[in-house]
Amino acid sequence: MEKLKLYIDGQWLEGREYEGLRSPYNQEVIAQIPLADNADVEAAISSAQKAATIMRNMTTLERSEILERVAELFQEKQEECALILAKENAKPLKSARAEILRTIETYKFASEEAKRIHGETIPLDAAKGGKGRFGYTKREPLGVIGAITPFNFPFNLTAHKLGPAFAAGNTVVLKPASQTPLSAFMTAKIFEEAGLPKGALNVITGKGRAIGDLIVTDPRVKMITFTGSVPVGMGIKNKSGLKRVTLELGSNAAVIVDSVSDLDSTVARCVEGSFNFAGQVCISVQRIYVRQDLFNTFVEKMIEYTKLLVLGDPRCEETDVSALIHPGETDRIESWVAEAEKAGATIAYGGKREGAVFQPTIIVNGGKDLSISCNEAFGPIVVVNSYDKWDEAINFVNDSDYGLQAGVYTTNIQKAFDAVERLEVGGVIINDIPSFRVDHMPYGGVKNSGVGKEGVKYSTEEMTELKFVSFKL
Ligand code: NAP
Repeated sequence: MEKLKLYIDGQWLEGREYEGLRSPYNQEVIAQIPLADNADVEAAISSAQKAATIMRNMTTLERSEILERVAELFQEKQEECALILAKENAKPLKSARAEILRTIETYKFASEEAKRIHGETIPLDAAKGGKGRFGYTKREPLGVIGAITPFNFPFNLTAHKLGPAFAAGNTVVLKPASQTPLSAFMTAKIFEEAGLPKGALNVITGKGRAIGDLIVTDPRVKMITFTGSVPVGMGIKNKSGLKRVTLELGSNAAVIVDSVSDLDSTVARCVEGSFNFAGQVCISVQRIYVRQDLFNTFVEKMIEYTKLLVLGDPRCEETDVSALIHPGETDRIESWVAEAEKAGATIAYGGKREGAVFQPTIIVNGGKDLSISCNEAFGPIVVVNSYDKWDEAINFVNDSDYGLQAGVYTTNIQKAFDAVERLEVGGVIINDIPSFRVDHMPYGGVKNSGVGKEGVKYSTEEMTELKFVSFKL
């Protein structure tokens, strides 16, 4: 049985305590993971603090070249990394490979972004008191960044934190989700091989509720970049004092189907968006609002396409949908389906377990107070309702505590622009599902979906301090 080590100050260190990591699919123990204690967290922060000067003094080109090498190494180790995902978070191989391709792209974007960090000149003599002065800004690294990541895209969402942090010359203490430590240690090995200075990246595993506060409250840590659930995100914001904090939180993303040129491709995308990685995606399609006259055909076709999905072992090439991250999550999804059924909604497809896997489930005519309508599902279930008037559809989407992204299918350009104006979300995706994301676009929500933006350029900005300079000539 593989026994993993913490990565602190460029050293691989045994933990004082260990815990077995279980496969979400068959519950077998697949590795022994160190549980970092207070002394390990302290060592990781000190090491990151020590390395901050080295990173800050590296040239832009040196930082960019390390990130480029990281992208190359991920390219070489693609299959090994995809298998790690299948093992630790039950991501089916097809989706796991897609995540690794995105991870490579994210590090490439970061390598390029490293070369574009710059300030601007300010025409100080535009003000009465500015005559004879020359002003400019420059962007400086913050220092030590605490990165806390979720289980669902453990390679790529970590890349969204490490890539921009190192591009900007910072150092990092990374605390991955307890269920996905293998990808974090693999990432550290790749950075080590790529020549990142010792101490610039430190990986500590262990329970977030046990060691999270130490990272979040330490004054040497200048920023927390967090992706995860709303309750944990809110706790971090409350405890972090004057630190910079970005929070990429949950959602119950919706799509409006108003008018389409090709219903089949729309339905196929909605099925993909609802059930990819068993719905454990922050912009998974959870609520679909279909114009009344298209509704019956839409639902029929959705069932047809969902039937094609293959359920099973994440390591099988054919598998589309596998187990949820913990058995307790399967119980929760089952209870949500029961709640919907009891309230009079129709379970049009699925609704049951098949071994360790919950069937992709389509609920129709679900009321707005159901858990599936108002909370984040993070499971393979979607609710499809009809609407009569356009305004009604916009109001349904906005009737949510979340606001990450929304999708709108319409062939009417005025409705498209109207949706852009009125939807209360961080991103409006016209003629596609809300799950659309590429890694250089700005990404981040409003309402309970978070604070601050990711997307390589945008996170890089968040991870720098803007310094102003004035010369009296
Ligand atoms: P989570 O339970 O909130 O955990 C996220 C991270 O926070 C984990 O590393 C966790 O460690 C750690 N943590 C837990 N308690 C902590 C504490 N008190 N202090 C500091 N850290 C703590 O989320 P998850 O279940 O892994 O991920 C699913 C959630 O992430 C969903 O809500 C999803 O929408 C959201 N998400 C958002 C985005 C986005 O970009 N908006 C992307 C992906 C996922 P442990 O694992 O050890 O508890």
